[in-house]
Amino acid sequence: QSQEFSQVRIDYHGALLALQEHGTRMVCTGKMHTDRICRFDYLCYCTEAEEFVFFHSNASVMLPNLGSRRFQPALLDLSSVEDHNTQYFNFLELPAAALKFMPKPVFVPDVTLILNRFNPDNLMHIFHDDLLPIFYTMQQYSDLDDEARLVFMEGWSEGPHFDLYRLLSSKQPLLKEQLKSFGKLMCFTKSYVGLSKMTTWYQYGFVQPQGPKANVLITGNEIRQFASVIMERLNITREEGDGYIVVFKRTTNRLILNEAELLLALAQEFQIRTVTVSLEEQSFENIIQIISGATMLISMHGAQMITSMFLPRGAAVVELFPYAVNPEQYTPYKTLASLPGMDLQYVAWRNTQEENTVAYPDRPWDQGGIVHLEKEEQERILASKEVPRHLCCRNPEWLFRIYQDTMVDIASFLELLREALKKPNLKKVKVASTVHPGRVREHKCQSSVQATNEAKLSVSWQIPWNLKYLKVKEVKYEVWIQEQGENTYMPYILPHLNYTFSENIKPFTTYLVWVRCIFNKNLLGPFADVLVCKT
Ligand code: UDP
Repeated sequence: QSQEFSQVRIDYHGALLALQEHGTRMVCTGKMHTDRICRFDYLCYCTEAEEFVFFHSNASVMLPNLGSRRFQPALLDLSSVEDHNTQYFNFLELPAAALKFMPKPVFVPDVTLILNRFNPDNLMHIFHDDLLPIFYTMQQYSDLDDEARLVFMEGWSEGPHFDLYRLLSSKQPLLKEQLKSFGKLMCFTKSYVGLSKMTTWYQYGFVQPQGPKANVLITGNEIRQFASVIMERLNITREEGDGYIVVFKRTTNRLILNEAELLLALAQEFQIRTVTVSLEEQSFENIIQIISGATMLISMHGAQMITSMFLPRGAAVVELFPYAVNPEQYTPYKTLASLPGMDLQYVAWRNTQEENTVAYPDRPWDQGGIVHLEKEEQERILASKEVPRHLCCRNPEWLFRIYQDTMVDIASFLELLREALKKPNLKKVKVASTVHPGRVREHKCQSSVQATNEAKLSVSWQIPWNLKYLKVKEVKYEVWIQEQGENTYMPYILPHLNYTFSENIKPFTTYLVWVRCIFNKNLLGPFADVLVCKT
């Protein structure tokens, strides 16, 4: 049968009996198709029909059992890109008794993670949509270990960076196309289907213009831990030295036209070594090795900038934008560099001089050509000074502008860098703690009535329990006082463990009082249980 899987590792007859008797079992997490990951015993795949199959028997389990809501629109997203209609997962159902009439199944003994890669031709997509989500989905389920098998169902070939996917497990990942070679019916003994979206920070503009995700849940810490595992598996060790500037260039489009002049100017300005890299001229390992020791990474906007995650803490990321492209509207790399704890300094430069741009109206549409458009539309685009907000992915004006080559105006570029990098080097700023305060304890209130129109409210509390183990530069307390029944409250920031309020405090009134601790101005703790205080 299959050469790939050593069938000695499983008892074929036993597996077949188990499948016939128990059928498929599925248990999932998640309320919606967009946050669901499912674990299966004996999920099968029919290579002829190109469909997954769920076998029903008396012992099969399907949780959640959505009935036909399973098709509205799908059971789950197979890629990390949210709710994309080309990335849905579902299965067909059959009674286990039908197995008697079907081709003999081939069993996959490995614990398998089944997913879609989103766009394996593009380095940004590879890291953001695939590698990080796969890495952290594997961390979530302990049996998805180094021996796990990855199965990519999007239907693409390996792509230019398949070696990166190979780093995630010791087993060769399988492509949809290869499944055919194992037979007509494959059954995955144990599998997980779907990817965690916890690590993604950017949405590409399918339903609203592109931008950071509304609720980013990852910090620099998780990015760096992932990056250091990747470096370890590539046998790269960070070179500690005085640092240098890396210009990451593109060689087929979106060029920097005066690269030599730029390099010279940078070397002179910063009195520091300056090197160039490109995906066409160096191996990926080599590029990561170089970037991991750099103090500054400069590049035209583009997928190669995802490698900024390998920069050392405190480094600067300088992103160049062609004429008529507004940096504020295309921020995957800015968002990455600005994640809390990423500790990178981000600077955007934009070509504002039309005479310094070289456009390619005659190229094919997917490289930014516009000659296929109506004359009027072409003229409008050529006259426009900024690409208006737009949706992904085929906006001709956007493609026209983003695929321009750029002559960098050295004087204005250096001036921008000088200004931006004036701020203290992040390296020297002590890494701020991210430990949040606990609740304040033993909080209570006392009141006294002074006169018919005068009262006092004394509130006191004790420090949060975790504070005694921490060195915190600044500890403050926030107190909210609300008259019962009113919908506004008075907030106070206080340095001590008690305070007597007399302003705006009325006699014979009920107040609700909330207290919480704040570390270093912005690390908020939880509010303690509300105090009900009667004057
Ligand atoms: N690319 C490259 N050199 C080039 C042009 C592209 O290495 O001259 C790479 C780029 O980094 C990305 C892939 O080719 O990984 C696709 O590039 P595209 O311009 O389509 O996407 P973008 O960089 O705008 O995300």
